[in-house]
Amino acid sequence: MSDLKTTVVICQAQGRNPVKRQLEDDIFSTLMNDPNIDVSLLPHLYDMSHAHSGMQFLKAVPGRVVILGWLYERAIRWTLDRAGIRGHEGETLIKSELEVPDDHEETHEPRGIGITEVPDRMIYCIDLRVSDDSEEYCEEVRRIAAEPRRVTDITTTGVDGQAESFDLMSFINGQPNADQLERYLNPERQLEARRAFDSGDISVDKKEALPEDTRRRWYPVIDYTRCTNCMECIDFCLFGVYGVDALDRILVEEQDNCKKGCPACSRVCPENAIIFPHHKTPAIAGADGEVGGIKIDLSKLFGGDDGLSAIDMAVKERDRELILDGREAVGTSVGLRERERDEYDDLMDELDALEF
Ligand code: SF4
Ligand code: SF4
Repeated sequence: MSDLKTTVVICQAQGRNPVKRQLEDDIFSTLMNDPNIDVSLLPHLYDMSHAHSGMQFLKAVPGRVVILGWLYERAIRWTLDRAGIRGHEGETLIKSELEVPDDHEETHEPRGIGITEVPDRMIYCIDLRVSDDSEEYCEEVRRIAAEPRRVTDITTTGVDGQAESFDLMSFINGQPNADQLERYLNPERQLEARRAFDSGDISVDKKEALPEDTRRRWYPVIDYTRCTNCMECIDFCLFGVYGVDALDRILVEEQDNCKKGCPACSRVCPENAIIFPHHKTPAIAGADGEVGGIKIDLSKLFGGDDGLSAIDMAVKERDRELILDGREAVGTSVGLRERERDEYDDLMDELDALEF
C-alpha cells in the first residue's frame, strides 16, 4: 500500500442484485487501470465485524481513502468510526438526495463532543445510491485523487477543535497481518473471486480469495459531531446496548444486544445523533439534513407514519421489544426526561384542535 496513491474501497451491496453488482464491477474495472489509484472490494460495510480482515485493511490504509458504499455518506462515516476507522473528513461533490416535506426549516449547527484521536489521513465517503452512472463516481474519485495532499492542517468536521491528529501506525496499534490484507491488494484476484462466487462456481483457490463470512447486523452508530453526551439514550435503552468509555463519553458497548428493526433510541436522541443505517426513514438512516445546500430540520421526520410523535413511537417500539423479551412494558415511566415544549409540540396541539 502506498500512501502516495489514493485507495478506493467499494463496499458491496447486500445480496446479489445484478444492477448493483454491475455498477460495482464497472467502477472497479475502470479504476483498477488508473496508475494513481489502488482499488479494493469489501463486503457491505455495516455487515463486517470489527475483527473482519476488511475492517483491518481499512484501518491500515495509510493515505487518502475513498469509501463507496450503499449507505448515506454520514452513515458510512460513523459506521467506520464505530469500528475504530478514522480520518479527517474529505468533502465530496456527490451528495445523497433526501425527500423533504414542504415546511422544512433551517436546522442548528452541530454542537457535538467530537472525536479525540484522528490519524493523519483523509477519508471520503460516497453513497452509491446517488447515481447509476459508474463514470460519475470514477470522475469524482479522479478529482479527489488529483487534490493536493492536505493532512494535519485540517480539523475534522469542525467540532470544538477536539480532533487531534495521530500517527496512523500508532493509532492502529501495530502492523496489520500482511497475509490477511493481501487479498485486498490484488484487484484481478478479487474480481475473479467475486464472479466465481456469484456464479456458484467456487474452487478452493478462489474461495480463499473471498473475505470471511459476514451476516446482517442491526445496531446504532453515533454521530459525535452531533452527540452532546446527554446520556438520554443510555437511560432510555433497557437492553444494555450503551455504555461509557474511560472519559465518560457515551458509546455503543454491546451492539449485538440491540433489537433487530428497533430504532427507538434514535427517536429520543435530542440531537438526532443516532443512526441506524438500514432504517427506511432517511433521517434515521443517516441522511445529513441538507438538500440543494439548504439545511433542514430532520427532527420532524423522526416520528411515525401514523402521526405518532417521535417519543410516542419510541415508547411503543421499546414496549414491543420488552414484551417480545418476556418482560413488562414500561410505557413512558422509565428513561424519559421532561423536555421543554417546542414548536413541534405547538404544531401538534394545533392539529389536534382542528379535530379532523
Ligand atoms: S441521546 Fe444522543 S446526544 Fe445524548 S448521549 Fe445519546 S447519542 Fe449523544
Ligand atoms: S434501538 Fe432499541 S434496543 Fe437498540 S439501542 Fe436503541 S433502544 Fe436499545
